[in-house]
Amino acid sequence: MIPQSFEYHVAKTVNEAARLVAEFGGDGKILAGGHSLVPMMRLRLAAPRQVVDITRIPDLAYIREEGGKLQIGALTTHYKIESSDLLKAKCPLLPETAREIGDVQVRNKGTLGGSLAHSDPAADWPAAILATDAEIHAVGLNGDRWIAGQDFFVDILTTALVPGEILTGVRVSPFPEHAGDAYLKLHQPASGFAVVGVAARVVLDGQGSVQHAAVGITGIGPKAYRATGVELALRGKSPSARHLQDASAHAADGVEANSDLYASSEYRAHLARVYTRRALEKAVERAK
Ligand SMILES: Cc1cc2nc3c(=O)[nH]c(=O)nc-3n(C[C@H](O)[C@H](O)[C@H](O)COP(=O)(O)OP(=O)(O)OC[C@H]3O[C@@H](n4cnc5c(N)ncnc54)[C@H](O)[C@@H]3O)c2cc1C
Repeated sequence: MIPQSFEYHVAKTVNEAARLVAEFGGDGKILAGGHSLVPMMRLRLAAPRQVVDITRIPDLAYIREEGGKLQIGALTTHYKIESSDLLKAKCPLLPETAREIGDVQVRNKGTLGGSLAHSDPAADWPAAILATDAEIHAVGLNGDRWIAGQDFFVDILTTALVPGEILTGVRVSPFPEHAGDAYLKLHQPASGFAVVGVAARVVLDGQGSVQHAAVGITGIGPKAYRATGVELALRGKSPSARHLQDASAHAADGVEANSDLYASSEYRAHLARVYTRRALEKAVERAK
C-alpha cells in the first residue's frame, strides 16, 4: 500500500531533530534505516504527517572504546556491528546477535538505534542489551540522560523515550574475565524475526561456580525481559547440566507468553525454557 502523504525533513543535528519532533508532537516520526517505519507506514499502522530523517546527522554511526566502555552510535547498522573486530574481541555477544537479524539487506540498512526505539517484541537486540547490562543514551530538548536497558523496554512498541527524545547511542562494558556469552534464536520461518531469542552471559568464579548470570529473552512476551528467576537459581551454583536445566525451568516465570498462528503461549513458554538451557550451556562452555 501507499503511505498517507507526509512532509519530509532532514535534520542536520540531534538538537534540530529533537526540536522538530517535539514541535510536531504526535504527528512527527524519526526516520533511521526505515526498515520498520516504512513498512508500518505502507500498512497504515503508522501515519505520521511529518517525517524527520536523521541519517545525515554526522557522528551517529560509530563503534569505539572510550572511558572503559564500548560505545555504539544509534545509526550504526547491524552489519557494522556484526563485522566489528573491536566488538568481536571485547563483546562478542553483540556481533553474534547482529548475525541473526533478517538478511544481508536488512542488516546493511537497519540501525541499532532504530531497532531499540521501535521495541518490536520479536526483535533481537533487546535480549542482548539486557544480558550485557547496556545503557541507552537519549537527547531531548531538556538535556540528555542514560537509561538502563532494564528500564528502557516498557511494553509492546513502547520504550522509556519521551516525545522529542532521540536515541543517540548505547554503551556497554567490555566482556569480563572468565565470562561466556551466547545468543540463540528460533527464527519465525516467514518473517525471520524471533519466535524466541535468548542472550545469556555467565561469569565463573575461581572455583568454577556461577558468580553472575544474565539472561535476556525476546519473542515471548510483549517486551523483552531479564529472566531473573533463572539468574537467581544459578548464582553460586556449579554450572552442571542439572543446575542449568533446573534454572532454565524459570525462563518464562511471571510472563504472559504471546500466542499466534505459529506458536501458542504454552509452546512459546516451552521454547523459552529450552533455548535458555541451550544458550546457558553454550555460554558456560565458552566461559571455561
Ligand atoms: C524483511 C525484514 C526482516 C527483518 N528481520 C529482523 C529480525 O530478524 N530481527 C530484528 O531484530 N529485526 C528485523 N528487522 C527489523 C530491522 O532490524 C530494523 O533495523 C529495525 O526494525 C528498525 O531499525 P531502522 O533503523 O530501520 O529504524 P526505522 O524503521 O527508521 O525506525 C523505527 C522506529 O524507531 C524510531 N527511531 C528510529 N531511530 C530512532 C532514534 N535514533 N531515536 C528515536 N527514535 C528512533 C522511528 O521513529 C520508528 O518509530 C527486519 C526488517 C525487515 C524489513
